[in-house]
Amino acid sequence: MSMAIRGPSGDHDQHDHQHHGDHQHGEGAKNASRAFGWSIVLNSLLTGVQLAIGLACGSLALVGDALHNLGDVVGLGLGWGAERLSQRPPRGRFTYGFGRSTHMASLLNGLLIFSAGAVVVVEGLQRLWQPVPLQSGPVAVAALAGIVVNLLSARLFGHGHHHDLNQRAAVLHLLSDAAVSLAVLTSALVVGATGWLRLDGLTAIGVGIAVMASAWGLLREAIAANLDAIPAGVDPEALRQALASLPGVLEVRDLHVWGVSSSRTALTVHLRRRLDATLPSRAFLTLARQRLAQFGIAHSTLEVEEGEAGAD
Ligand SMILES: [Zn+2]
Repeated sequence: MSMAIRGPSGDHDQHDHQHHGDHQHGEGAKNASRAFGWSIVLNSLLTGVQLAIGLACGSLALVGDALHNLGDVVGLGLGWGAERLSQRPPRGRFTYGFGRSTHMASLLNGLLIFSAGAVVVVEGLQRLWQPVPLQSGPVAVAALAGIVVNLLSARLFGHGHHHDLNQRAAVLHLLSDAAVSLAVLTSALVVGATGWLRLDGLTAIGVGIAVMASAWGLLREAIAANLDAIPAGVDPEALRQALASLPGVLEVRDLHVWGVSSSRTALTVHLRRRLDATLPSRAFLTLARQRLAQFGIAHSTLEVEEGEAGAD
């Protein structure tokens, strides 16, 4: 919050505002949205099959895998919906637009997946006391399907921009999901060969814990975003340095950086400039914006005060 104490030439304060649309709505975005769509369809089918076979054949480990995939589908759907919503222009009372719905979507998704993981762990503990008969053949096939679908989805996403953090996270996630399905497959084969029924409960507990752990990371980021934390990709110290090193800048104050949506970062800051700074205000602001753009910040509000060093 800024209660700016004006410098000697406070009436020269410059308020400026700039909006940059998203420039990257070309082929990359289209590919990403297609990968998104396919991933939702494939994962929905997979979830249905795994849930049905897991319940019918008595494998909690498979049900756990299915619940996790269900969480992924819901997350993809929520993310997709929020992304659409966030592209609507601001209107009426919603002067920020609807970008924040992406933060709300990830919070909701994190909570859902975390609860699903917890349920599977509790159920798994019960199965250790009371093992349930298991038909391992269909369970192994459904787990194999999980591996195939997740590897296929990872390939779809992998075709996009490799430097996109979100996309890389998505690929890593899909690969780790394939690993979970691999654990379920292995467990089913071992149960089939040895008849050791408790292994299914043990595997389910492992799956549940893995699900809770990944949801925990998601939850932490979502809570941070909802608290207007600086987005994970922006280094606050480097940013402050970049602003402080602009020509004539004496002081950087009230620096605020937050995610307007999961893909857009906004900034407000007060800069005190030397009175005799030779660079004209326009050129100074342009230069400042170029620096900010290097941090992926396209939406900024700069207040520039001219004054002596330390003059408050
Ligand atoms: Zn997953």
